[in-house]
Amino acid sequence: MTTVAVIGLGIMGGPMAANLLKADYDVVGYNRSRQKVDQLVAAGGRGAADVAEAVRDADVVLTMLPDSPDVEAVVLGEGGILEAAKPGTLLIDASTIRPDVSVRLAEAAGARGIRAVDAPVSGGEVGAIEGTLSIMVGGDADDVAAARPVLEAVGSTIVHVGPAGSGQTVKAANQLIVAGTIELVAEALVFLEAHGVDTQAAVEVLAGGLAGNRILDRKAAGMIAREFRPGFRVDLHHKDLGIVTSAAREAGVAIPVGALVAQLMGALRAEGHGSLDHSALLLLVEQLSGRSTS
Ligand code: NAD
Repeated sequence: MTTVAVIGLGIMGGPMAANLLKADYDVVGYNRSRQKVDQLVAAGGRGAADVAEAVRDADVVLTMLPDSPDVEAVVLGEGGILEAAKPGTLLIDASTIRPDVSVRLAEAAGARGIRAVDAPVSGGEVGAIEGTLSIMVGGDADDVAAARPVLEAVGSTIVHVGPAGSGQTVKAANQLIVAGTIELVAEALVFLEAHGVDTQAAVEVLAGGLAGNRILDRKAAGMIAREFRPGFRVDLHHKDLGIVTSAAREAGVAIPVGALVAQLMGALRAEGHGSLDHSALLLLVEQLSGRSTS
């Protein structure tokens, strides 16, 4: 039986660990707050008291942590994965972090005989629960092939996009598209409401035409109801747009719309909405339009 250690059992890591259990993996989990570990144990997994205990006997380690410094601490830090895991272990980092950090971590892992791939995901909480995530994988072909069965337990579209760090670059492009689309859907909804149009009916017909997109399908109803429980937190999308803008600058690529949406996401966060779902960009559009209801 393959043992998978899952580090980070939050909105995404929790259901991914549950799907690994359903696929008959032996799952041992660690999370900074203990309650999430207890939930995994209740679902049939094993709990660990720290990172070292979780990874010591694991064949595969899956990390699903918020940001680059979190992954660096868990991988490189004292009692971390590189110190505690046995050589030959496969490290799959599914967190969304900076591409250059992924490259550095893969090099450090390689020096310890640990194989590393970056495998950020798209599909949100629903995709994590349903096991239908889209996964963009960067790393050596052999390591990606070794990671594939584990990734197939949590996702349905798994694509090897290039060497270490490439998965993160593709994920950055994903976050650029998602943020821009949310902003446009938010603007369209506030516009429709201001004209007194039945927004539910409008969304139904828009979703069937060229304007149709997943944000309309999955987020518009919540936006119309002003229901912004995360989902994907504004704080995390703000982090991702920082990755996008600096990676674009590094490559000398202009992303004017992306840069604007990055500013809007930052403003929403500065107003104290960091823990809401990213679809709360609608609140900012309302505010800029003098139509705030809250
Ligand atoms: P989250 O905040 O819900 O989960 C992160 C978990 O990691 C938390 O439970 C936290 O307690 C734990 N944690 C933090 N530092 C830790 C440490 N040092 N050791 C152990 N546990 C630690 O976040 P999430 O929404 O699950 O997102 C995780 C990653 O996945 C992020 O990089 C995010 O950008 C990415 N992502 C999220 C979504 C989404 O829809 N939520 C979609 C795709 C990708």
